[in-house]
Amino acid sequence: MPADLHIHSCFSDGLLTPEEIVSKAREAGLTAISLTDHDTVDGLPRAIAAAQKEGIKLVPGIELTTDIGDTEIHMLGYYIDYKAEWFVELLAKIRDDRVNRVGKIVQKLNALGIDIKAEDITKLASKGSIGRPHVARALIEKGVVSTIQEAFNKYLDIHGPAYVPHFKLTPHEAIDTINKAGGIAVFAHPAVSRKDEMIGELAAHGLSGLEVYYSRHSYFQVRHYLSLAKKFKLLVSGGSDFHGMGTGRDVALGDVKLSDEYFKKIEERGPHGH
Ligand code: AMP
Ligand code: ZN
Ligand code: FE
Ligand code: FE
Repeated sequence: MPADLHIHSCFSDGLLTPEEIVSKAREAGLTAISLTDHDTVDGLPRAIAAAQKEGIKLVPGIELTTDIGDTEIHMLGYYIDYKAEWFVELLAKIRDDRVNRVGKIVQKLNALGIDIKAEDITKLASKGSIGRPHVARALIEKGVVSTIQEAFNKYLDIHGPAYVPHFKLTPHEAIDTINKAGGIAVFAHPAVSRKDEMIGELAAHGLSGLEVYYSRHSYFQVRHYLSLAKKFKLLVSGGSDFHGMGTGRDVALGDVKLSDEYFKKIEERGPHGH
């Protein structure tokens, strides 16, 4: 009964609809998935309805970006109460700032001599959370770059000339938010953030799990994070971070399978485990 607990839809920067994701998950032989869009829960009702039809488990999820200065920590939240009014309002505020940020990115790109309008980007994110991947797609459409990767390398990554940060919670605030929403906070792709020294302290602050199995974790890294999870008594999670093909992150849905043993432990803590 494998699970893939890290998936993005077109409600943030993924390409597929929640229904398409659920149907792909069934084809891949998954029995449980989590939809973890960036800063939005708006895709969840559709994902839940589709999963019910297809007979697979859908863990309501989210991925929050947190700010720690030189880099980011991404925090996954599972089994969050996605209908809680205060939570929905907080997410709306974060997404509004993402829209403002696109305006600033456009100004920077224009100053670099690139002819692009905010509208060229916003039209690619009709459903929700807008981000740099949408900017990258618009730059491809304009013929400025030929791949998403090139857009990040040349303009958009944290050291790029068109980089603009968006409003972010701190890691503690993200953990508090997820816990307050009745969810389970999981440190996403720790090998990408490379902030291992923070894991113990975050665990003490209410972090519940570590995304040990991840599409860009090596065998060695998986073993390393398994031992850290054990050391800090954290749940072991796993997911592909699927965004759809052609997004510069070309991993297939279900490429990372969390074993039933680990999924069960997560399930026991959610949705009624508190
Ligand atoms: P944002 O939240 O708008 O800052 O965008 C961050 C998202 O962009 C990440 O979650 C990834 O989905 C994507 N991303 C970041 N770096 C790259 C990259 N080098 N290539 C492709 N996608 C990337
Ligand atoms: Zn993403
Ligand atoms: Fe992430
Ligand atoms: Fe992600």
